[in-house]
Amino acid sequence: MRKSMLSELEEPHIRSYAEIFEQKQDDEEHQTKTSIEQEHIENQVLKLYKLSHTPTLITEKHIKKLKIFITNLDGTYESLDCSRSWLCYWILHCLQILGHRLNDEEYSRIIGFLAKCQSPEGGFGGGPGQYPHLASTYAAVNALCIIGTHEAYQAIDRKALKRFLISLHGEDGSFSLHADGEVDIRGIYCALAVAKLTNVYTPEMFKGSEDWIAKCQTWEGGIGGCPGMEAHGGYTYCGLAALVLLGKTDFCHLKSLLRWIVNKQMRMEGGFQGRSNKVIDGCYSFWQGGVFALIHAILTKQKKVFNSNYWLFNQEALQEYLLICCQHPDGGLLDKPGRYPDMYHTCYALSGLSIAQNSPQPLIIGPETTNLVEVTHPVYNLVLTCADNALNYFNRQPIPA
Ligand SMILES: [Zn+2]
Repeated sequence: MRKSMLSELEEPHIRSYAEIFEQKQDDEEHQTKTSIEQEHIENQVLKLYKLSHTPTLITEKHIKKLKIFITNLDGTYESLDCSRSWLCYWILHCLQILGHRLNDEEYSRIIGFLAKCQSPEGGFGGGPGQYPHLASTYAAVNALCIIGTHEAYQAIDRKALKRFLISLHGEDGSFSLHADGEVDIRGIYCALAVAKLTNVYTPEMFKGSEDWIAKCQTWEGGIGGCPGMEAHGGYTYCGLAALVLLGKTDFCHLKSLLRWIVNKQMRMEGGFQGRSNKVIDGCYSFWQGGVFALIHAILTKQKKVFNSNYWLFNQEALQEYLLICCQHPDGGLLDKPGRYPDMYHTCYALSGLSIAQNSPQPLIIGPETTNLVEVTHPVYNLVLTCADNALNYFNRQPIPA
């Protein structure tokens, strides 16, 4: 784990209960379905903030739960049969963020499983024998890069992967998620992330993609799933990360994006909402939080950043929400108080915690030795060393024809 630089810094500001209470919504004496729901969540969050002492990450409980789930999922996961490669990524990434590695035999078994999800046409399905899909391909490639052994890297059929990506590229620059499948901005991001990581990328494979992404930016400033769709945290992350990977960030109107996204942090709860007038959700800690790291990199490159040491959101408040409101006492993290933890939310809440702590100057609330997590790469959402090792490995290999 990195040596702390906190000693050179000011103490992080943890809000008092009175400060938090002051931020309750004002419904101007006009109740709506949305304001009632917001009120309900605020009351649940306030109860937790009132009870809370020191915000502490219960690392061992999370690791224990994740290790059970890597082999034994309960019945509630039955509906995720087509997302088994995602489950591998979510769980392995969480363990990595928490600084925990599995043993070689366990990793080998996971590699064997993911290899069975790979299609002879290229790309990976959500489970063995399933059609290849861009989202499950992204998850499987990321999972293999987390394992990071020669065996894991070699499990990826790069030549077929490149063919698969090319087959999904539309004339307008968009990507279908699978053959004859739906088109949305996740497709471009997933295709670019795996193409860059495994070094199969060529500019022609993404011809027109930057124009298509630009059409997805809405009047609000955030990015939607397709041209005409509402601005949304997950799609905004995919759109901006894709432009970063393409090296074409000038296709995003950054000023309006920034105005939209700074207003997505909930002032009382501390975490993020995904869309305007929606309630808070722990997974947007990464989808929105990660965008701030990308914006920071873009502004720094343009030499326009005002304070280069921190992200442009309240990093302490996000950590408070995650550590006080989103941890289940038995392990796993959740969307919001009152919900059960699941692997998706555990992954994106922990990824968001990593972003919130790891600004250029780290900012960690609570006991640092317990709470500090590994640094995640904001473009790939892989722990930095995993992304670097994969890029080093594949960049030494020729781009397949
Ligand atoms: Zn969520």
